[in-house]
Amino acid sequence: MNGPFLLEAKTIAREMNRMLPGCFLLCDVAKVVRSVGRAERELPTDLLARVGGKDAVWFYYEYTQNAKQAFELECQYYHRHFSTLTKRFHPKRPEGKDWTCSVGCGYK
Ligand SMILES: [Zn+2]
Repeated sequence: MNGPFLLEAKTIAREMNRMLPGCFLLCDVAKVVRSVGRAERELPTDLLARVGGKDAVWFYYEYTQNAKQAFELECQYYHRHFSTLTKRFHPKRPEGKDWTCSVGCGYK
């Protein structure tokens, strides 16, 4: 993971120069992880859409080579940061895929 960076459009533009899938963490002002997410195509674009949230002051990001790797990484960070997340829904696999949780929690 790269970060933490302030979740602002100019920071995203400065730090991120590739349109690839990936995973991100959003943190509150105290840098506590409040949400975990992924982008199946363009990580910077998805992060831009999150700018301005109360629990999204800082972010970390990590690129992946494809959408499946992004899902697997999201699962790992989801389980690691579960106790501080504001929404505790397990990462969802895309429609039509049979991917399982990379941590092996039994998510179906
Ligand atoms: Zn899981």
